[in-house]
Amino acid sequence: MKQVGLLFAFALAVAEENAAGGKIVTAPTCGSSGVLPGVLFYLSSEEHLNEHKILRALATAGLIGNLVKHNASISGAEVGCQGEIGTACAMAAAAMTQIMGGSPTQIEYAAEMAMEHNLGLTCDPVMGYVQIPCIERNAIAASKAYSCAVYALSSDGGHKVSFDQAVETMAETGRDIQVAYRETGIGGLAKNWEAFR
Ligand code: SF4
Repeated sequence: MKQVGLLFAFALAVAEENAAGGKIVTAPTCGSSGVLPGVLFYLSSEEHLNEHKILRALATAGLIGNLVKHNASISGAEVGCQGEIGTACAMAAAAMTQIMGGSPTQIEYAAEMAMEHNLGLTCDPVMGYVQIPCIERNAIAASKAYSCAVYALSSDGGHKVSFDQAVETMAETGRDIQVAYRETGIGGLAKNWEAFR
C-alpha cells in the first residue's frame, strides 16, 4: 500500500499544482500533467536513478506523446480524456519500461496497452474545471502506467495490436464521442454531479 500510495502522492502533487494555477510541464496537457512526473519521480526516488536515465526515458515519452499528437490528438476537446490521460499513461508506461531495461518491443507494448485500456475515456469535468475527475485520474493513470510497464516487462514483448493501431482507434473513437463528453462540462459526471447535488 505504501508504494502505490507514494505513486499516487507524486502524481497528485503535480495535478494539484496545475489546479492551483502553479507551474507545471504540459506533458502532454495541463489536465494530465501529473502522470509522467508521478511515475518518474517515484522511480527516481525508489530506484535511485541517475539523471541520464531519466532524460533518456523523457525522450522516449516525448516520442510517444508526439506520435499521438501528430497522428491523432492530445486534446480532450477533440477526442475526450482518452487523448489526454490515455496519452499521458502511454508516455509514462513507455518511459518506465525503458528505465527498467525493456526492449523496444516491450516499450511499444507498454505504450499500446496503456492507450488501449483508456480507449473511450470521456472528458466530463465538474463545473468545467480541470479538477474532478481530472486530479484523481492522474493518480489512477500513474498506477495503470506502472502496471502496463510491469506487464510488458513480464512478457517477451509480442502483442497483436500495435501502438499505431491503438492511436488510430483512439482518434476514431474520439470523433464518435458526442460533444457533451468532450471537455464541455455538460455531460457525464459533470451533469450528474449537478443533478444530484
Ligand atoms: S477529464 Fe477532461 S479536463 Fe480532465 S484531465 Fe481528462 S481531458 Fe482533461
